Amino acid sequence: MLITEEQIAEKTQELAEIIAKRYPPDAAEGDLLLVGVLKGAIFFMTDLAKALSIPTQLEFMAVSSYGSSTSSSGVVRIMKDLDKDIAGRNVLIVEDIIDSGLTLSWLMRNLKTRNPASLEVVTLLRKPDALKTPVEVANVGFDIPNEFVVGYGLDYAERYRDLPYIGTLHPRVYGGE
Ligand code: 5GP
Ligand code: MG
Ligand code: MG
Repeated sequence: MLITEEQIAEKTQELAEIIAKRYPPDAAEGDLLLVGVLKGAIFFMTDLAKALSIPTQLEFMAVSSYGSSTSSSGVVRIMKDLDKDIAGRNVLIVEDIIDSGLTLSWLMRNLKTRNPASLEVVTLLRKPDALKTPVEVANVGFDIPNEFVVGYGLDYAERYRDLPYIGTLHPRVYGGE
């Protein structure tokens, strides 16, 4: 166990208060648009939306990055695109975890071409490698060590997403030492 359910809830509330201050509730841009990156971000996204004191709308994207199973290449394919036009809207990308940051930096570039009024990111977790990327992430829940984590939306081969806490996976599970 790395981060408990209580710690996640507390941090989510903290992030929600910071974010709510940045977006006026009756903005000309309309309600804040949360863009969740499937599937890992869904638990964090729904809890964050409930914790936010401002009205939000929820949209989802699914992307897959080419590359090996352990490191992403930065070449990304859209598996599910947004249903709505985001031009002129305040958009907040909701991520589960930023590792190399390559997926996110690709996503930011892609969404920027659609001319949102603003584009920012909130991520629950960030790994040390992410600090090497040019991606500006305004809101980070927890900086964690460079270990593979699961739970609270994060999977290993589609398992463990349903855990209410975040834990590290014993290498035994994936055939390591
Ligand atoms: P990046 O492009 O930042 O290297 O890759 C980010 C994506 O890789 C995340 O959205 C997530 O899907 C996956 N990922 C990176 N680190 C972990 C981890 O420790 N555990 C799990 N379950 N997924 C991870
Ligand atoms: Mg993700
Ligand atoms: Mg995954």
